Amino acid sequence: MSLLVTGIGELVTNDPALGRGPLGLLTDAAVVVADGGVAWTGPATAAPDADARMDLGGRAVVPGFVDSHAHLVFAGDRAEEFEARMSGARYDGGGIGTTVAATRAASDEELRGRLRGLVAEMRRQGTTTVEVKSGYGLTVEDEARSLRLAAEVTAETTFLGAHVVPSEYGGRSDAYVDLVTGPMLAACAPHARWADVFCEPGSPHAFDGDQARAVLAAGRAAGLGLRVHANQLTAGPGVQLAVDLGAASADHCTHLSAADVDALAGGTTVATLLPGVEFSTRSPYPDARRLLDAGATVALATDCNPGSCFTSSMAFCVALAVREMRMTPAEAVWAATAGGAAALRRTDVGHLAPGARADLAVLDAPSYRHLAYRPGVPLVRALELPG
Ligand SMILES: [Zn+2]
Repeated sequence: MSLLVTGIGELVTNDPALGRGPLGLLTDAAVVVADGGVAWTGPATAAPDADARMDLGGRAVVPGFVDSHAHLVFAGDRAEEFEARMSGARYDGGGIGTTVAATRAASDEELRGRLRGLVAEMRRQGTTTVEVKSGYGLTVEDEARSLRLAAEVTAETTFLGAHVVPSEYGGRSDAYVDLVTGPMLAACAPHARWADVFCEPGSPHAFDGDQARAVLAAGRAAGLGLRVHANQLTAGPGVQLAVDLGAASADHCTHLSAADVDALAGGTTVATLLPGVEFSTRSPYPDARRLLDAGATVALATDCNPGSCFTSSMAFCVALAVREMRMTPAEAVWAATAGGAAALRRTDVGHLAPGARADLAVLDAPSYRHLAYRPGVPLVRALELPG
């Protein structure tokens, strides 16, 4: 059964061969969908026949957002920590322990309900692919449980046993790194595609460069791809480590040296920016222009989590990227779709050329520019296809 989606006033394909500019932009476009995939993309006047039709009445369509960085397996709430931060308290990652305690105490059903609720909330806002990390269990059993639950909702599961050092270890600890790289990794690797680490020598709760290297090397040896929480709170070794080890993505990139920018521009590691975190921790934003002008591949993601940034809205991140990081609307939309796909090393999402998954997001607006032009307005949703 094929479906012709027509009445697309403006279509972002992210394929320059199909339309104008890096977004591969088409006006008065159509897409044919069959078997969950895109079968044809082009001008409506040239569209082939299909078994059924859906008319979008001139709305804009973009590829579904690819949110390549999210922490969705957790229990509890940290609204009071947010309130305190807005009154001047500093963010150093220490509040994560609160979520760890709540998550360990929660039932599978409770965690599953919250997780599925957030994935549905994302979908209603146009996100069709989401990466989900563990990292609030921090015991062998609780990390494996988090990843089993995550794997129920996404193929993009990330083992983040090295999120913070749990409080029972009393601060930075090589013994905890031994647990993460040993029995915890062994229990988690079957449920994970990626390994990640919070590399932040400036935080007493996180991991220094040598520890981060050990975590990533063990993850790679277990067959996992690599991602790194890098250079969020201070300049440090995270970005260089990510590039050296061929990680798919270095995430945050808030405090970068010239050498870090050069490394990202010269390598295959995507720079994933998470401006919702800077918004929600009232911190300086990463220098997206410097990365883009140097030639780095930039992705945008939410970092949706109960502490440093509890937004699930990629459209909000696009608006922040344009307003606060001086990305153009086109650069921001590309980063939130094709950029996210690159950060997950996926070729079947983040674009709408034939062969892609039929992940369309539709705007109640005539142009993708409205994602930044109308901040906070719920304009975009995943297009639900019949069947
Ligand atoms: Zn994160």
